[in-house]
Amino acid sequence: MVRPRGRFRFLRQRVRVLDRPVPWGRRRGPPLCVRLPRKTSLRSARGGCALVWRALRATLEEMFKLAWRVPNFAMMRGTAPAKAVTPQKPVVQETPVKFRSGKHTVIVKEVFDIAPKFPQTYLIRFTFENEPVFDFEPGQFISIFAEKDGKRISRPYSIASWPENKDYLELCIKIVEGGFMSNYLYHVSPGTKLQSIGPLGRFVIPEPIRYDTVFVATGTGVAPFIAMMGHIWEQGLDDGRDFTVIFGVRYVHDLIYRDLMEKWEREHPNFHFYPTISRPETPDWKGRVGYVQKVIQNEITDYGNKQVFICGLHDMVEDVKNLCQRLGFAYVRFEKWD
Ligand SMILES: Cc1cc2nc3c(=O)[nH]c(=O)nc-3n(C[C@H](O)[C@H](O)[C@H](O)COP(=O)(O)OP(=O)(O)OC[C@H]3O[C@@H](n4cnc5c(N)ncnc54)[C@H](O)[C@@H]3O)c2cc1C
Repeated sequence: MVRPRGRFRFLRQRVRVLDRPVPWGRRRGPPLCVRLPRKTSLRSARGGCALVWRALRATLEEMFKLAWRVPNFAMMRGTAPAKAVTPQKPVVQETPVKFRSGKHTVIVKEVFDIAPKFPQTYLIRFTFENEPVFDFEPGQFISIFAEKDGKRISRPYSIASWPENKDYLELCIKIVEGGFMSNYLYHVSPGTKLQSIGPLGRFVIPEPIRYDTVFVATGTGVAPFIAMMGHIWEQGLDDGRDFTVIFGVRYVHDLIYRDLMEKWEREHPNFHFYPTISRPETPDWKGRVGYVQKVIQNEITDYGNKQVFICGLHDMVEDVKNLCQRLGFAYVRFEKWD
């Protein structure tokens, strides 16, 4: 499709205004010359571009007897200026998602508080009807459907289990006060069948892993990172890289998956778990106090050689993303939940 305005800058760099034909041997300057009336004004972007474009087409047709199609300047006359045609590439290219999403019937296997004291966050595990747990990439999510007032509604939830675990698919859900789905799923009985679509999303870690990696999460935003780290250990993908989970919560009792991450820290010298509590409710807490931003600034170094993944509620993610971009991380990926 021809978009004259978008091509205007590109054309101006390549078009020379001529009032008569110039012999080939004496042509200099821009590689493609177009005849335009001498007094033509190129000031107006829209009008000027249309004029240039028409003249260019006429010239091409006259010279090469080509049927009309969008000419490929780069092929015809050497390489076009990089600035005009080459989009800025991220440091790490986005990997294509490996698995197609589809509709699946999931069956509730079990629902339980992540620890007896903390009923506001729970784990729900599913098996699949007539099929094994689907293949997915860690970091992806599944959309779960339920009926509310005769309407079918859905909510996305990050998968917290890793793909090698075919016994069940695990979600880690915070109960939202007055929220429909987070409360509904808390009360479903084992054996309940639910419709779902998945796996979905592109918040995945490119493999092989080329950078030391920092994961920043608050609350249940840690779920995709549990899946990623579980997968990394299962597949031996760490390859000497360092992995740091910076996990911010309000209270010590909100530190979900704490035991698992402390276990990983003991087992893997290249894994670091940095929990930070914004409102420590007990004097027993001797660890970090404050927000995740403080930990990133005070305890992470050599930003340019690290990639960072951020997940959680909108405001935190926006703030941390801006900070990480300012600090110069090689690669910043994020997923926002509202
Ligand atoms: C890609 C993606 C992955 C997600 N993964 C998870 C996950 O792993 N675990 C998880 O717990 N949630 C996750 N969420 C959030 C989840 O999809 C729902 O938004 C959340 O469970 C609330 O749904 P609800 O039906 O209970 O509340 P709703 O009925 O949708 O909302 C009720 C009220 O609560 C507010 N609200 C909605 N979500 C939140 C929230 N998270 N915190 C505070 N207030 C909220 C709404 O603004 C609204 O006012 C994810 C969201 C996205 C986009």
